[in-house]
Amino acid sequence: MFIWRLAHNSLPVKRNLARRGIKTETACPLCFRLNEDCGHLFFKCKKAKQCWRAMNLEHVRADLELCKSGEETVARILNLEQHEQNRVFIWLWRWWSARNKANDGSKLATVSDICSSVSFYLLELEQLATNCKDKAKSPSARWRPPPADYYKINVDASYHEVSKQGGWGFVARDANDIFLEGGAGSFLHVADAQQAETLGVLRSLERIVELGMTRIILETDSSTVGRAITSPGNIICQLLQFFTGRSLTITLQDSMLLEILMDRELYSQRQAHDKNLLFI
Ligand SMILES: [Zn+2]
Repeated sequence: MFIWRLAHNSLPVKRNLARRGIKTETACPLCFRLNEDCGHLFFKCKKAKQCWRAMNLEHVRADLELCKSGEETVARILNLEQHEQNRVFIWLWRWWSARNKANDGSKLATVSDICSSVSFYLLELEQLATNCKDKAKSPSARWRPPPADYYKINVDASYHEVSKQGGWGFVARDANDIFLEGGAGSFLHVADAQQAETLGVLRSLERIVELGMTRIILETDSSTVGRAITSPGNIICQLLQFFTGRSLTITLQDSMLLEILMDRELYSQRQAHDKNLLFI
């Protein structure tokens, strides 16, 4: 979603807000020197340039700075070699997140913090991609579409035994295999792989609920987690009901496939409270 908004120049940077008639200062909230549009925020701001240099991506920045539109910018990034492309997209997303925090009055994260978070998410993304490739090799693990009036959510998580850190990600698609939404995040402390997978399911479902998807087939790669979620009084179900204030039904279709049905009315309510979660 973030990349889509970047390509369509619809991110709520100051100049875009002013263009829509919202009364606001248009100065960049990071350097306070020039007006904030996407070109300035991501490629020309002196604060952003420090990060590009720290990541040894100055040559990419210099090229992207010349783009005339969001669409051209994203097209050029897509032409980069895969690893560099991932780094650039993740950096843009992390920078947008750091900018939002600074815009809300927090201190801007340091260059080294931002670069570390880029490395972390890059590792997560590439691990997920490798896992997906391995699974794709097995014909039995091929993705199957949901029924026509359902959305299919695939969730995966990773866990590092030494650091006790973990990561999660999800992809939402419709019955025609059209990509609708994806997201990823990290956990600073998790006890084991099963907890990482369970938390990944919860975080993914939180986002899905916000998007208003109410008929869901959710696939995990852990049958233990699938069984745990559908056991009587399970915590995931209770937490989701708590967050949404609506009832939902979770049924185990097979060991790793869950059917989740929720009340449709929560759609507009949750949209109105978009918490600007960190999603790509
Ligand atoms: Zn600036």
